Amino acid sequence: MIGILGGTFNPVHNGHLYLAERLIKELDLDEIRFVPSFSPPHKSNYLASPQDRLAMVQLAIQNHAGFKLDEREIVRGGTSYTIDTLQSLRIDLGMKSSLCWILGSDAFQHLDSWHCWRDLLEYCHLLIVNRPNNPFLGTLSSELRRMKDRHLASSLDQLKSSPSGFIGQLEIDALDISSTEIRNAIKANRTTDGWLPPNIIDYIKTRNLYSS
Ligand code: ATP
Ligand code: MG
Repeated sequence: MIGILGGTFNPVHNGHLYLAERLIKELDLDEIRFVPSFSPPHKSNYLASPQDRLAMVQLAIQNHAGFKLDEREIVRGGTSYTIDTLQSLRIDLGMKSSLCWILGSDAFQHLDSWHCWRDLLEYCHLLIVNRPNNPFLGTLSSELRRMKDRHLASSLDQLKSSPSGFIGQLEIDALDISSTEIRNAIKANRTTDGWLPPNIIDYIKTRNLYSS
């Protein structure tokens, strides 16, 4: 099974890397693909350029076996819709391999605002991982709750043994780190100790990102 971690990675941080590490182990993934978005439909706050965000992901994952960079959203340009990315992945990988799109519980909660969200499960499984301060039991719209109930896997093995169509849920000891907090800390000249790999701190300094 291939895990896919989409995001703005503005910037990529230790919370993402720890999550990916844990998922490779817990789900015995063949690989986990980081897919930085070009232009996310829902985010209007300050975004570093796609080239900088891509370069940071590349630096962050370079020494991790099984972590891969997937540039397709940035190569495609335009608004980055997950459904388009999944269709493109299926053209490359065929319909038979098991694909698991990973979502923090914060992202899942808003899934029903995504373009063509009802069709996503035709192309992949969805795996919801808890995020600190965002417990699974947060409010879901009734339609999203129905979708979750209808497709909920009874075990994570179900995800591995079929190409798409299930929703899995996994509780991990996720790190309490977010890109928003990192951007705010850099802007306010506060420390980001422990939140970023050293080479990402260096990159942000050299390129003078997030400071104004
Ligand atoms: P921002 O604060 O700008 O939204 P972020 O830290 O949430 O940034 P994203 O690029 O939005 O990072 O996250 C990509 C994916 O990774 C999302 O599905 C998100 O829920 C998940 N994620 C981000 N940080 C963590 C974390 N610390 N633990 C678990 N999942 C995370
Ligand atoms: Mg986020």
